[in-house]
Amino acid sequence: MNQTNIRVRFAPSPTGPLHIGGVRTALYNYLFARKHGGKMIFRIEDTDSTRFVPGAEEYIIESFKWLGIEFDEGVGFGGDKGPYRQSERREIYKKYVDVLLQNGSAYIAFDTPEELNQKREELPNFQYDASTRMQMRNSLTMPKDEVDSLIAQGQQYVVRFKIEPGEDIHVCDLIRGDVVINSSVLDDKVLYKSADQLPTYHLANIVDDHLMEVSHVIRGEEWLPSAPLHVLLYRAFGWQNTMPRFAHLPLLLKPDGKGKLSKRDGDKLGFPVFPLEWHDPKSGAVSSGYRESGYLPEAVINFLALLGWNPGTEQEILSIDQLIELFDLQKCSKSGAKFDYMKGWWFNREYLLMKTNEELAQPFLTLLADNGITTTPDRAAAVVGMMKQKVVEYVDGQSQQIKKRSVSFVKDLWPLCDFFFIAPQDFDRNDKFVRKNWRENSADEMKQLRDQLQQLENFDIDTQKTAIDTWAEQTGIKPWNAWRICLVGKGQGPDMYELAAFLGKEETIRRMDFAIATLK
Ligand code: GLU
Repeated sequence: MNQTNIRVRFAPSPTGPLHIGGVRTALYNYLFARKHGGKMIFRIEDTDSTRFVPGAEEYIIESFKWLGIEFDEGVGFGGDKGPYRQSERREIYKKYVDVLLQNGSAYIAFDTPEELNQKREELPNFQYDASTRMQMRNSLTMPKDEVDSLIAQGQQYVVRFKIEPGEDIHVCDLIRGDVVINSSVLDDKVLYKSADQLPTYHLANIVDDHLMEVSHVIRGEEWLPSAPLHVLLYRAFGWQNTMPRFAHLPLLLKPDGKGKLSKRDGDKLGFPVFPLEWHDPKSGAVSSGYRESGYLPEAVINFLALLGWNPGTEQEILSIDQLIELFDLQKCSKSGAKFDYMKGWWFNREYLLMKTNEELAQPFLTLLADNGITTTPDRAAAVVGMMKQKVVEYVDGQSQQIKKRSVSFVKDLWPLCDFFFIAPQDFDRNDKFVRKNWRENSADEMKQLRDQLQQLENFDIDTQKTAIDTWAEQTGIKPWNAWRICLVGKGQGPDMYELAAFLGKEETIRRMDFAIATLK
């Protein structure tokens, strides 16, 4: 295929917040389009008005803005194949419904929901298809004048696709190869409803992919069952020569691999399944988002890119440009990808560590402000630099036990860094570190250390180190752990000279005096 003719689309239905699997689908479309110099279309599939959720469309657009996934055409992006919102394309679909009715690929059906239910009771495995359609009320079983007069009277009807049984339908999938499904298992799908004068997903999707000249349909595995129907629709329209290539992406699985990833898994184990925080307009319930949970967009992109695809090397940290360069649809896996949320932490940490301390100081200042601390960007950057490589405790969602992991989010820094800004108020004598390291002669040793520090004119790290290391060697006193208790209150924190230099001479000595007086 001519590379410049590559056109893909991401076509969400605005029925709620975008699931992280949808984000991955959009990302793969984006990588594919960029790799081949093609175009990426943003289409809103809102023909099912009963499922419309206010705010969902705006939410989806904002999510991609945050993630840096850019569209070339579509709702909010312009383009000459619009409108790109399906509810604004009624007239277009009507025309194509008529094409199918005229060429005999579709028919009109008047069966009411009650009649359909009754049929389901009569026939346990009822399906509206070649085996049953002649028992129903439709334009195949009723005379033409009756059909016309019912329509003229304003009777509601649907248009159904007439599927001939017994044919092997081949879906040529770029990831799964030749997928064969027999047409006998398909039902005569509703393509259009007179009640709202709108097509259903299947018809609108095919007509739009055709008119928007989509070359590749890259979407989640959950749409694979619809693909044979789509192949038949292309044929019914006579569009088989320009039919897009299909690629159905592997499912995202629960972290343990047992079943499809759901919002409940995220709630239970404590990770978001939506890109941004979502406020449900009806229930008011709030669901957490990657952005608000402190993930960096580039980390989320990298993490998602490797859920179902890999470049065939060990390299895991890949910039968006590298991803674009290496991406290959054919290297996507067929089997589902386990949603390893801890790997998501790992990616976030790697990307966090790629930032400068000055860059990290900005969100850290916000975190400090939330905890009632104001300080300068320089001091915030200094603390970040001392603590970003440390380990933090967290509650494991599975076992509810306290575990440890490397700092992976800026917010992890608060419980590790409070002592930089707040002096110890009391000391926990039962704390293991305190018990072990505050001994009988500690108060006396700390007094000596205090006097040594008092004499220093310059309080920078090197000056302290030279003086105190020498003093420690001469006296044989190992002051570090007791000194840590004085300045931190517990067995945490950075190198003592770094900490003391940060606090300054006055504050260092103040904290030491307080500890000596309190602990004795
Ligand atoms: N509107 C469908 C969705 O919500 C699009 C499926 C497709 O890409 O064909 O995902």
